[in-house]
Amino acid sequence: MAKVYLKSIAIRGNGKVGNIPITNLEPVATCPGAKKEDGTFRKTCLDCYAIKTMKFRKNARKKWSNASAQDEIDELANLKTNKPVRLHGAGDFIDQEHLDGVSVSMEDKRGWYYTRSFHVGVTAKGTDNMQEFASIDEDEDVAIARAKGYNRLARVVEKKEWEDGGKKKLVVLNNENYVVCPEQLKTKASCESCGFCFNKPGKVGNVAFIKH
Ligand code: SF4
Repeated sequence: MAKVYLKSIAIRGNGKVGNIPITNLEPVATCPGAKKEDGTFRKTCLDCYAIKTMKFRKNARKKWSNASAQDEIDELANLKTNKPVRLHGAGDFIDQEHLDGVSVSMEDKRGWYYTRSFHVGVTAKGTDNMQEFASIDEDEDVAIARAKGYNRLARVVEKKEWEDGGKKKLVVLNNENYVVCPEQLKTKASCESCGFCFNKPGKVGNVAFIKH
């Protein structure tokens, strides 16, 4: 059988997630929530690792920029795995139709994602098999995300702020509790061995990432 060239899925994941399938799309082009209403980038998006990867790694540039939302939907529909799927290591949901299509393709699998597309009206699916995190940049984003059905939040914390706060495993931001990513704390080797973002029952539990 001819080998199928997968545009959006890296079956072997990466050093962060472990041996977990991960989908990637072109950053910025597929990130409608990356910019504010005035057209400027949100603070965290200015420092996006995926943009840097696109710039310096030719293979990623070629693969990610060739993958469409429909490619991702089709490839996920054909993916047979009992592992959780990390959706959008790079990229995001371009619109509701994109998330709806991915949700259908994910019906026989479990997975998780972080998104800023709630800023452009993309509403969480609320299915049990997909853990959906809203990526929060400003305190005001929380209410917008909640109104779109996102129970779980993800937020970047400045390293100095975290260090000044005592390097805790749990941080409180705007009255919300966030577990600091154990892979960053080196208490877990990868997402595969951690599972907080995809195994936590009840679709609760926020995560914080330390900015280096
Ligand atoms: S909290 Fe765990 S599952 Fe979530 S990103 Fe960090 S290592 Fe991965």
